[in-house]
Amino acid sequence: MLNPVIASPKVTRRILKTFGLHASRRLGQNFLIDAAVVRGIVDTAEIVPGDRVLEIGPGIGTLTQGLAEAGADVIAVEIDKKLPAVLAQTLAGYDNVRVVPGDILKTDIPALMGSAPFKVVANLPYYITTPILLALLEQRLPIRRIVTMVQREVAERMTAPPGGRDYGALSVAVQYHTEPLAAFLVSPRSFLPSPAVESAVMDCVVRETPAVRVPDEKLFFQVVRASFAQRRKTLSNALRSLGLSRDAVDRAMARAEIDPIRRGETLSLAEFARLTETIGDARTESE
Ligand code: SAM
Repeated sequence: MLNPVIASPKVTRRILKTFGLHASRRLGQNFLIDAAVVRGIVDTAEIVPGDRVLEIGPGIGTLTQGLAEAGADVIAVEIDKKLPAVLAQTLAGYDNVRVVPGDILKTDIPALMGSAPFKVVANLPYYITTPILLALLEQRLPIRRIVTMVQREVAERMTAPPGGRDYGALSVAVQYHTEPLAAFLVSPRSFLPSPAVESAVMDCVVRETPAVRVPDEKLFFQVVRASFAQRRKTLSNALRSLGLSRDAVDRAMARAEIDPIRRGETLSLAEFARLTETIGDARTESE
């Protein structure tokens, strides 16, 4: 290896000091300082030489280095304008890494990654984890796998079954598009600075076809969002926000064989799919 391993407290502190950097809380900067965690992420993603990887937020290059050492071709999008110059030095010698300055939420990912399959691997900034995951899933990109560090609480939401407090629109979106698995937990001590919360690495293998068949994906997610928007309301009341009369909603629920007093958080993906179909029919009938 040409460069020292970045994933250690000593090397990370030295890099921050050399470049006069201070971790930005606003940008969710908690740098990994634990080589075992970097290895764990690379192993979970089953990186093999030639894998194309989109990394979100390379920071000072800690995880990027692990990916590059495993032979991945990495494209890393980083919002902090100070970091590309730092990365040019910490990752000097790796010709399989390209750093792209910018905000991942404003990046044209199809233009950046092209049409060949790729993996997403990241230690995500926690302040925008959900928007990033939803953007990656909804764009129908040729992503095969998403392996990301998230807060433990978000990991629980991603894998939550129907019925509990953790089950919500994020659970449905993640489970509709992928097979999510919590790979391992990560202690706050593995980061500099330490975040206030525990973290987990999520391994989401993207499904070739979504978990359930829906006639209209846009309407499916509208139904899901409406169902979770007002958790204290019964489903029948919540769904009226889709612009249907009480009668039409009740009829749609009866046709889908769903009790109108149920709450959104108790519906399985299959039930949301059935409801999407009958609500779609109710809309057509009321036109
Ligand atoms: N990958 C590094 C590591 O594991 O040590 C840094 C991870 S740190 C938790 C999150 C990184 O995401 C930071 O480098 C931060 O500047 C960057 N970031 C924050 N918001 C971003 C955005 N909207 N687009 C791209 N990068 C972002």
